[in-house]
Parts: sequence; C-alpha cells; structure tokens
Amino acid sequence: MSFTNLQLKNENFVKHACQEEVFLNHEPEAAPSLYLSIVVPLYNEEESVEILVSKIAEAVDKMAVSYEIILVDDGSVDRTWSIIEELAGFYPKLRGLKFRRNFGQTSAMVAGFERAVGKVIVTLDGDLQNDPSDIPKLLNKIEQGYDIVSGWRKDRQDNFSRVLPSRIANYMISVTTGVRLHDYGCSLKAYRADCIKQLKAYGEMHRFFPALASMTGAQVAEIETVHHPRKYGVSKYGFNRIFKVLSDIFAINLIIRFSSNPLKGFFLCALPFILMAGFFCFLGFLALILGWTPGKASFFMLGSGLCGFTAVYLIVLGVLGELVVNSSDLTHTHLPEITKKEIYMDKS
Ligand code: UDP
Ligand code: MG
Repeated sequence: MSFTNLQLKNENFVKHACQEEVFLNHEPEAAPSLYLSIVVPLYNEEESVEILVSKIAEAVDKMAVSYEIILVDDGSVDRTWSIIEELAGFYPKLRGLKFRRNFGQTSAMVAGFERAVGKVIVTLDGDLQNDPSDIPKLLNKIEQGYDIVSGWRKDRQDNFSRVLPSRIANYMISVTTGVRLHDYGCSLKAYRADCIKQLKAYGEMHRFFPALASMTGAQVAEIETVHHPRKYGVSKYGFNRIFKVLSDIFAINLIIRFSSNPLKGFFLCALPFILMAGFFCFLGFLALILGWTPGKASFFMLGSGLCGFTAVYLIVLGVLGELVVNSSDLTHTHLPEITKKEIYMDKS
C-alpha cells in the first residue's frame, strides 16, 4: 500500500474516531426508506442555520415527498451545533451529525451521504448563497432520468477575483474530463443516491463528483439556479483554494484515466524516455562509426543509458501499480453496475 493510501486510511480512521454522532431524531437503522435526503455541511454558520432549515422545509414541504434534512457540523467552534440541537425539537425531519474537529467540506458531505436514506440526495451550502427554492427544479430533472443534476450559478454573486479562477477551473475540468459543466463549484446538486454513495471521495473532491461519476456512465444535467451574495458569516476559503483546485484537477484526471490501469499511465510517461534512449543510442553509434571525438560517443551512450534507466524505472512502477490495483478495492470493474440498464427478453 502506498504512503498516501496509508495516510488516507489513517485520516478516515481518525475522522470516524472524532465523530460525535447524534441522530437527533431517529437512528439510521430505524429510519424508513425516504425519497429525499438533503445534506448540508456547516462550518461556523451559526447566523444562517435556523433560516436555512426553515427555507429548506418551506421549499420541500410543498412537494409532498418524504424527506430528511441532514446537517453535518464540520467541527464548528461557534453555536452552530447547539442551534442544530434546538432546531431538532421543532423539525422532526432534521438529523444532525457533528465532527469534533474540522475535516473539510468533502468529508462532511461524504459523512452525510453515508447516513442518508433517501433515494435522491440533494446537497447545498449552509450559508444560503444557494436558494432552497431551487430544489424542486433539480428533482424534476432527476425524475426525467438523469443521475446527477448540477446547479449553474449563471448570475453568480461573488467577486470577480473568485469568479475568474472558477471559470478557468471549470473550463479545465470540462475539457480534461469530458464532462462539460459551466459550474463545477456550485454545491447545489441532486444525485441518485446509488450513484454518489459508491464514489470514493477525499481531500477537496466534492467539486468533482459529476466528473468522478462519469466513470460509472452517469447521465449528468445542468440547470440554472439562483445565487445570492453571502449575507451571513464569512467564506471559509481563501486564495490558496486556487492551488488546491489545480492539484485536484490533476488528481481527478489520474483517477478517471489511469486508476484502473496504472501501467498504461506509467508507460505513456516512459515513452518519451524510450524514444530519447533510442535517439541517443543512434547518435552514439554514429559517433563511433564516423569517428567523432571519443568524448561525444561516451556522452551519447551515457544519455541513452540514463533515459533507458528512467523508462525501466517508470514501467516497473506501473507494474507495481497494477499489482496494487489488483489486490485492492481500487478496481472500477464494479462501477458500471451502478448505472446499468438491463433488458430481459421473455422467451416463454
Ligand atoms: N464548509 C464546511 N467545512 C469547511 C469549509 C466549508 O463544512 O471546512 C461548509 C460551509 O459552512 C458552507 C459550505 O461548506 O456551508 C461552503 O463553504 P463557503 O460558503 O465558505 O464556500 P464558498 O461559497 O465561499 O465557496
Ligand atoms: Mg458560500
């Protein structure tokens, strides 16, 4: 197992050890199967949480579907959790989960998915920048047969300094993953639960759920949604988000393209070195045959050897990667099961 994998497993272990799991209204085992679970990660959102719950309830009550609201407190140090506890007395459909320290938005969302019992899961931010009144529109699209419906903050109410990097990131993710969306960063999304629960997300990967789900053949749609300026609290992200998103774009492409056949990825990296090794070798022989200065022949042969060694090293890494994938649960052969459609011919 690689060092990063070990780290991830440890991080998960630590996270589980630090969860204060208060199913305020019902235990998951006792929970009935519902149509909808709304998952909201909250980190120091004491100012908005009460209005948020009332707006979600107002929007979803109109639809007459069975639902639950799962608020995941991601280690807030303000009154967020005590407000959630108070609200649970008024809203029987509210459930709460608290992390003892801050693990990040992705971890909070994944913890919510693990506990959700709805057939459809909707996520949104807890600061009311997303508008809960858009939830019925998302569900409508899911009912049309899509697996994931992503919100598009067409009229985004953030500073230009945030909108510009986000546009560039959206373009890069769309082009490299082939899943074209205007707004990967919009948290307001609806997922068919089967699709999202199977994905392994870590780090800051919540932005890339639609791209990750593309590995399952998920049908993704995008609809315009309302976006408000942040009225309550402050953003939890700073300038360094740009670098995290860039490294995540690289990681997501590796996962999508090569996680089920790493040898292919490493071989592609080794290919230029193989070509260079051949080229230097050719020059070395030319130098010997044509009697160029002796230093040149050794120089080219040394270059050829170095390039050849690098190529072999990369290929050996690829072989090791294949062995890791084969002996772990990283293989994606089970993924098509999530979105498969079967036709049975009645031959009787
Ligand atoms: N959030 C979280 N953990 C974190 C950072 C953010 O649960 O470590 C939550 C936050 O409370 C909010 C959502 O994730 O509900 C989006 O965060 P924010 O509004 O700060 O992001 P922005 O809109 O600025 O991109
Ligand atoms: Mg926000």
